Amino acid sequence: MPLVDFFCETCSKPWLVGWWDQFKRMLNRELTHLSEMSRSGNQVSEYISSTFLDKQNDVDLPSPTQKEREKKRKQQEQQPMSQISGVKKLTHGSSLSNSSIPRFGVKTDQEEALGQELENLNKWGLNTFRVAEFSNNRPLSCIMYTIFQERELPKTFKIPIDTLITYTMTLEDHYHADVAYHNSLHAADVMQSTHALLSTPAVDAVFTDLEILAAIFAAAIHDVDHPGVSNQFLINTNSELALMYNDESVLENHHLAVGFKLLQEENCDIFQNLSKRQRQTLRKMVIDMVLATDMSKHMSLLADLKTMVETKKVTSSGVLLLDNYTDRMQVLRNMVHCADLSNPTKPLELYRQWTDRIMEEFFRQGDKERERGMEISPMCDKHTASVEKSQVGFIDYIVHPLWETWADLVHPDAQEILDTLEENRDWYQGMIPQSPSPPPDDHDKDEEFCVDKFQFELTLEEEEEGEDLDQSSAGEEESSYHTPEGREPRDDAEQETAEGQNGLADSPLMDL
Ligand SMILES: [Zn+2]
Repeated sequence: MPLVDFFCETCSKPWLVGWWDQFKRMLNRELTHLSEMSRSGNQVSEYISSTFLDKQNDVDLPSPTQKEREKKRKQQEQQPMSQISGVKKLTHGSSLSNSSIPRFGVKTDQEEALGQELENLNKWGLNTFRVAEFSNNRPLSCIMYTIFQERELPKTFKIPIDTLITYTMTLEDHYHADVAYHNSLHAADVMQSTHALLSTPAVDAVFTDLEILAAIFAAAIHDVDHPGVSNQFLINTNSELALMYNDESVLENHHLAVGFKLLQEENCDIFQNLSKRQRQTLRKMVIDMVLATDMSKHMSLLADLKTMVETKKVTSSGVLLLDNYTDRMQVLRNMVHCADLSNPTKPLELYRQWTDRIMEEFFRQGDKERERGMEISPMCDKHTASVEKSQVGFIDYIVHPLWETWADLVHPDAQEILDTLEENRDWYQGMIPQSPSPPPDDHDKDEEFCVDKFQFELTLEEEEEGEDLDQSSAGEEESSYHTPEGREPRDDAEQETAEGQNGLADSPLMDL
């Protein structure tokens, strides 16, 4: 079964010219098709469209009740705009003396078991869950400390060890332990994945120590104080955070503000011995990388990465030639983004745990939306969401195109990662519950009619869609391209038609 790819179906060559228009066209077609195949397909399609494509969602804002307005006004009085919410006063850590510094930066009576897990620190597939278990539930502090030591960052940047430990603990305490997915375990995972990607042979010695420090720090703070709901939820509920950041990358702006603000807490400034210039550069890079973790920026990040792959230069030893700041930052922001989207590339046992967690978080958001009488976000309704289908769709349309492009950039370093991703995709595909055969009644005939009618409409639409899509790609360069003819519907999608056509009537044409 072909995954979404960037190759011409007739000549099998990469889309050197106009690939971006081509990609959007293909994705649009695939998502439209998916959304019209079944109700769950529609939900997966809506989820991908609303999460990963940067588009203006015009939503009906529920107007707050008098009581809610009163509550908000009181909150505002207590918390002026100039103050960053979520920063707590904490007292631990500052009393550490150099003689009492634990081997992995955290106090634990299972240091040996922890040490064994951390032998995989530099590998893809470190078991972050077990690190949490053996570190008194301090995976972020422990992994951050150990990566800093491994890379000799305290020595290079004269970071006092007790300051490093105090900062890592303070940072970890500002992740919410009661949030199912976006907690310190996820931050630890993204940071360790970034650490592993930084060591990929294709970028060996490409990045400066300051750039490495910035990438690891960015990954560590990239979701701090995450409330477990999406940007769109915060915007739709008129939250303080959405107000503060004018609805633009609300969470990502907040994570940055908190991550930097915590440096000002007592004995927390790990950058105290950097020069003014180094601090400025580091801050600029970290802001760039964390803002790029906003999933609505995914498509433009992928577009830039793909362009870079097409024009990539390597040295005689096979290392990427990145001789200017812009190119190096482009690789780094994609690297952190890849790490943030790396769950499906990990050993299945780990990937499945991440999936359980993200679904739990989505469902809790869905419950909140239901309670408030809001429309439930795609994939957030525990009564209708299809976990397996959502993972297959997520891989096919988002994760695989990204990782395939990354793998091209660092070829052949990421081949194993790509193989695991494809195996995991097939595993989830095999886990999609088979729909029971529909009973042979009149209703069934109606469904058949709908399928035929729909396929007819899709054919017409394919001929016309080019115009519409081109108009919506403002800001992209105009380019010539050839269009693959007669793309066949996906095999698995065809099988799904038996499930029902409920998504048909209101299925949206994706406006990429
Ligand atoms: Zn994240």
